[in-house]
Amino acid sequence: MENKSKYTPVIGLEVHIELSTITKLFCSCSSDHFAKRPNTQVCPVCMGLPGALPCTNYDAVVSTIKFGLAMGSRINLFSKFDRKHYFYPDLPKSYQISQYDLPFCVGGSLNNKKITRVHLEEDTGKLVHETIDGVKCSLIDFNRSSVPLMEMVTEPDFHDTESVVAFLKEVQLIARYLGISNADMEKGSMRLEANISLANSEERIANRLPNYKVELKNINSFRFLDKAIKAEILRQEELLLKGEVISQETRGYDEIKQTTYLQRVKEEANDYRYFPEPDLPPIRFTQDQVENIRSQIPELPSQKREKIEKVYGLSKDFADILVSDQKRAKYFEEALRQAQGKPMVTAKMVADLMINKKLDKEFPEPAGLIRRILEISNVKYSSNEEVDNAVKSVIMTNEKAVNDYKAGNGNVIGFLMGMVQKELNGKGNAQTVREKLLKKLQE
Ligand SMILES: [Zn+2]
Repeated sequence: MENKSKYTPVIGLEVHIELSTITKLFCSCSSDHFAKRPNTQVCPVCMGLPGALPCTNYDAVVSTIKFGLAMGSRINLFSKFDRKHYFYPDLPKSYQISQYDLPFCVGGSLNNKKITRVHLEEDTGKLVHETIDGVKCSLIDFNRSSVPLMEMVTEPDFHDTESVVAFLKEVQLIARYLGISNADMEKGSMRLEANISLANSEERIANRLPNYKVELKNINSFRFLDKAIKAEILRQEELLLKGEVISQETRGYDEIKQTTYLQRVKEEANDYRYFPEPDLPPIRFTQDQVENIRSQIPELPSQKREKIEKVYGLSKDFADILVSDQKRAKYFEEALRQAQGKPMVTAKMVADLMINKKLDKEFPEPAGLIRRILEISNVKYSSNEEVDNAVKSVIMTNEKAVNDYKAGNGNVIGFLMGMVQKELNGKGNAQTVREKLLKKLQE
């Protein structure tokens, strides 16, 4: 549908990821706020009380730089925090400490999509709308206030929902591999916004961006993101075909109606009156310090996939499945380590039993899986030819037993089977050995 249209979707992304540091960004309150009793993890700093002074959490800065390095960003050796002003009840200071012109990370790319910047800011409190004694009211929980929130902004490089979803899944995986966030969308640890417009053929040829964009907000799953973007593209297309002008606005997604709905119209560009945060000193890094952070970056999903394909010789599908779950990827590699010196255990066997038979669920420890593989291979892994040869050799070297059998003593068959198994190091299938032995004895 989208391909046949005379319009090309132009999509840019903003991704917010809450960093799982022990404490908040500017105070020593716990940043683990999920499902905690409201307003139990607060202090004068994160409640914005007058006179309280912030102090930067270095771990959050390092996490942001790690992420930027993983995205191939350039790291600003000199950066600072700025105040972004706006009024909303969940923002106690009436400004948010964010980064404006000197973010920690600039540029970079992932899946061939350009990244504009990655910066660090504080999260806001959370509004809870409830009805108490029949009265509708809004309550504010400040547990989330000042939790470190990393924001990544991309260039409008996306033209279909598939590449958006693939990109975001990879971002989520990278955050998890880096150990900087659980990036769970249902917990709000990863939040997505998409800026969507449609370029007509003229704009497309001139490589010019449309003169409007619609911001799609509050999407909490990849599935809804896919549907919401598709619905928004359809809405814009219908309007454009009718010759209407699309207004610059923010929209949400209605899961039941499967359409987007207006949240607010942006009449003019927001004036946030940014200025440098006077209570926090700028942050300087040396290139050595940046390199030191780079050296702490573990193997990333793309590297692990490549290793699984090239070094272990598995298919792309197997590599994708294993890497998409960090715990499973770890299990797989640990199993292979334990299989060293056991040539009958191959990487393909391990992956197959994990993915197709889910044996990693049955054996929580990789050692259990390896033992199981050895058991299976004991029963199964003598070829017909090996059994034939063993049977032949046993019959030739055990003349007395063979003669006893031919004279009518059926009991010796057990003895002969044992001899064959001995020849096969116990790897013969009992039934096959028996059949082949009986057949040979009757010749
Ligand atoms: Zn606090």
